[in-house]
Amino acid sequence: MRRPLVMANWKMHGSRASAAELIGGLLDKVSEPRADIALCPSYVHLAQAIDACAGSAFVVGAQDCSHMHQGAYTGEVAPDMLVDLGCEWVLLGHSERRQYHGESDDLIAAKLAAAVEAGLKPVLCIGETREQREDGEAFPVVARQLLGALAEQSSLANLVIAYEPVWAIGTGLTASPDEAQEMHAYIRAQLDELDGVDADDVRLLYGGSVKAANAADLFAQPDIDGALVGGASLDSAEFAAIIAAA
Ligand code: 13P
Repeated sequence: MRRPLVMANWKMHGSRASAAELIGGLLDKVSEPRADIALCPSYVHLAQAIDACAGSAFVVGAQDCSHMHQGAYTGEVAPDMLVDLGCEWVLLGHSERRQYHGESDDLIAAKLAAAVEAGLKPVLCIGETREQREDGEAFPVVARQLLGALAEQSSLANLVIAYEPVWAIGTGLTASPDEAQEMHAYIRAQLDELDGVDADDVRLLYGGSVKAANAADLFAQPDIDGALVGGASLDSAEFAAIIAAA
């Protein structure tokens, strides 16, 4: 049985004050969740979030990390630094990193390897654009992103995959539960082909305009094991309701 996992991606939002308020609201509203829960604030709010979540059901992750462990890489953050701080998770290959920062499948594969070596649990984000879906390319694009990042990895014990169709991110358009399930089943079948991966154990998250109103229908699908939530994770009542649906 895969335990549900609900993750918040705060993206580039928040201040020390709003982070404190949001986490305080969540700790008040969420007790004994059926899901694992992780919050991914910006780097600068990680230490604060880790302190605020200590002893609770919430753990903390970063939104990205370097593919290098240390050295003269100005502005980068090593996965080892995140572990040292107390982070458990790291998001990798988010479509906004691919789109605005030119991240390639090769770079994401290198980040994934470095993150796993450092002891982080990686969440590999994959998903097609609207044009790619309209062109009938959604499945090959997702397979390429998945296999491009995973093919050379030697250890994938804590791997999580987040399927986030780019056309559903921040748009209010959600993949229908059937559409999302179809892709999740496809992703699981692709994982099944890889050596060293037990596809039945890998948690597959859906992301893209998840909110309290659509979460339960998505979570009812057999291959959807949770969500990676952007905008709706910035409101404690809304995010608590999504957690309760898992
Ligand atoms: P939204 O929930 O705002 O659509 O963002 C999804 C996402 O990109 C999470 O990583």
